[in-house]
Amino acid sequence: MIPLFYVLTFLVGASIGSFLNVCIARWPAELSVVRPRSRCPRCERPIAWYDNIPIASWLVLRAKCRHCGLPISAQYPLVEAVVGAAWLWSLWEFGYGLNGVRVAVAATVLLGIAITDAKHYLIPDGFTVFGFLFALVMPVVGLFVLDDPWPFAGPWDALIGACVGAGLIRIIGWLGEAALGKEAMGQGDETLMAFVGAMVGPGRTLLTTFFAAFLAVLAFGLLVAPVGWLRSRRAGTAFELPHVPFGVFLAPAGMLALLFGDQALAWYLSTLG
Ligand SMILES: [Zn+2]
Repeated sequence: MIPLFYVLTFLVGASIGSFLNVCIARWPAELSVVRPRSRCPRCERPIAWYDNIPIASWLVLRAKCRHCGLPISAQYPLVEAVVGAAWLWSLWEFGYGLNGVRVAVAATVLLGIAITDAKHYLIPDGFTVFGFLFALVMPVVGLFVLDDPWPFAGPWDALIGACVGAGLIRIIGWLGEAALGKEAMGQGDETLMAFVGAMVGPGRTLLTTFFAAFLAVLAFGLLVAPVGWLRSRRAGTAFELPHVPFGVFLAPAGMLALLFGDQALAWYLSTLG
């Protein structure tokens, strides 16, 4: 019976991933995620429950609307599968309790933020406000039901971490703006780091920003800048460095800091002697 239990956990996660897809599609357009029911954007026919089963329906429908044949993006089943796997792994690794659910929720919200920022260059308040309140309230709840809040910060560190996270992005944004003459950090990055800071506490918040800068330099240096340069050369236009959606890097960096930040900080301090 144990395998069935894990299958159920994955299916719950995949259903939450299905809802995450709705948030990713609707929040940037400032639409409700509750109403109306999902419908095809071309033929506008509502999507029946049997065509809305995570992963399976996309495969059965062969990535097309049942009525008009409009292609359905592979993002839908991919997000469902990743969130399903994230819930299964989190609960298996951190136990079927409060901390397992908190890790799974963190992974889900951070994935939503990374995808939305990559697609639309914005981080909806729906993700960050929910994440922030969840990250501030859970340490207090944890005081009553948990022996050890790890990997999350306790209530006091959560509060300081939130201030450090938002403040740090403010400072980076201010210096970036002074250097580049244009907006370097958006409000979404600030609220994202208030949320991450409340989860991990002040030390790992600094680490998150460091991880994100490292990931951003890698991605831009090895991929985005060379490809952009080649394209502009081929088209005969002037090369312009594209906009950096920093949340795309802050979100996975926050997850890395949550899971491995303590080890990374311990290693760093030991190399300093
Ligand atoms: Zn259709």
